[in-house]
Amino acid sequence: MDAARIAVVGGSLGGLTAACLLRDDGHDVRVYERSSRELEQRGAGIGFLEATYRYLVERTELPLDEVSISTDWIRHLDRHGKVAHALEHRYLFSSWNAVYRQLLEHWDLDRYHLGHEIVSIEQRDEFAIAVCADGTRIEADLVVCADGVGSTLRGQFQPDASQGYAGYVAWRGMVPEADLPSEIAGQLTDAITYYVYANSHILVYPIPGIDGSVEPGDRLINFVWYRNYLEGAEFEDLMTDVDGHRRDLSLPPGSVAPHHDAEVRAHAAARLPPVIANVVEHTEDLFVQVVYDIEVDKMVFGNACLLGDAAFAVRPHAAAGTAKAAEDGWALARHLRASEGVPEALAAWEPEQLALGRQLLERTRRIGRRSQIDNTWTPGDPEFIFGLHAPGD
Ligand SMILES: Cc1cc2nc3c(=O)[nH]c(=O)nc-3n(C[C@H](O)[C@H](O)[C@H](O)COP(=O)(O)OP(=O)(O)OC[C@H]3O[C@@H](n4cnc5c(N)ncnc54)[C@H](O)[C@@H]3O)c2cc1C
Repeated sequence: MDAARIAVVGGSLGGLTAACLLRDDGHDVRVYERSSRELEQRGAGIGFLEATYRYLVERTELPLDEVSISTDWIRHLDRHGKVAHALEHRYLFSSWNAVYRQLLEHWDLDRYHLGHEIVSIEQRDEFAIAVCADGTRIEADLVVCADGVGSTLRGQFQPDASQGYAGYVAWRGMVPEADLPSEIAGQLTDAITYYVYANSHILVYPIPGIDGSVEPGDRLINFVWYRNYLEGAEFEDLMTDVDGHRRDLSLPPGSVAPHHDAEVRAHAAARLPPVIANVVEHTEDLFVQVVYDIEVDKMVFGNACLLGDAAFAVRPHAAAGTAKAAEDGWALARHLRASEGVPEALAAWEPEQLALGRQLLERTRRIGRRSQIDNTWTPGDPEFIFGLHAPGD
């Protein structure tokens, strides 16, 4: 099809990947990002699946090992820190920050509009208008809404979308490997290390340093610890930050109430294998991300579409959230290339991406239920291998 005017709402990994791909196909693309500053470190480490790094590998000169760290083992520890199970399996890990920085380097900053919060989309017959909080109106042949888990535009298009708290949150943190005793860091850099126990599990893996360095000594050790909080008073108290404000999706570093910070550190010391407890203890700022299941039954609304977490937000157990967002972008570019116009491309794109979102949501729900409620996860179970389309794929 001919070059289209495309507005991408949300300049994180999903929005930027789609924007780069659509720009490469000759479209006139602009990105509108709510934050007024380039995005800071968010979300810490990510399991780095093929769809997330595909743009960097296929369209830039960047060697993959400059933006990621590979590990060779999936290792489960017992309560005392002894290896209970080890499976040889290669994973790549990166950080949100490292990938964001690389994508932004391949984007034109004059087309990255910070401080632009899109509050609604108006539909016309052949185009759409993205309306900014300051009243600016942006006309586009296609608006790609990549505005994340708390998507305003999902709220407009799918006010009844099913969204539910999973019953647990992820406590997270990162420690420079140089800050850990060397015998501890040495045990945590060649593997993803798990400790699975009653109604909880924690996983630890190495990621690039804050400045993106992947050199030994500069890396960070990152953990994700899933803990159950009952909906109601218990969850409300957790999500009330140090200043007494109720947070929705996360408690960023520095905002966790002191009694929760103390409780989680004490629990780590008392309950986790010493090597993992040590990582929690050395973490300066713990933070929390709430785990939600969000499901839409449509992703296309006239000349606008929802992409990435703005459509389906899935539990993190497949490490595939950014890969799903990137895959939505690759598929969109492919359908636009193969179609006469935007409506035809979106009509072909939507059923494929709905299917992808549904299968991932279903799979990650099942993993979450088995690990946090049913306690049926035994080390070596292939269902728990990361992957976008299926375990290991
Ligand atoms: C605990 C946890 C662990 C995870 N681990 C992994 C992992 O290992 N691997 C992995 O691939 N994924 C992982 N994820 C998932 C991953 O973080 C998300 O799937 C991914 O960030 C989604 O990308 P996105 O671009 O769709 O949305 P987001 O990254 O949420 O970005 C949305 C962007 O839109 C902007 N925005 C919001 N509203 C507006 C508006 N109205 N106007 C303009 N801009 C707006 C925001 O500022 C933001 O920049 C994890 C998630 C959690 C919670």
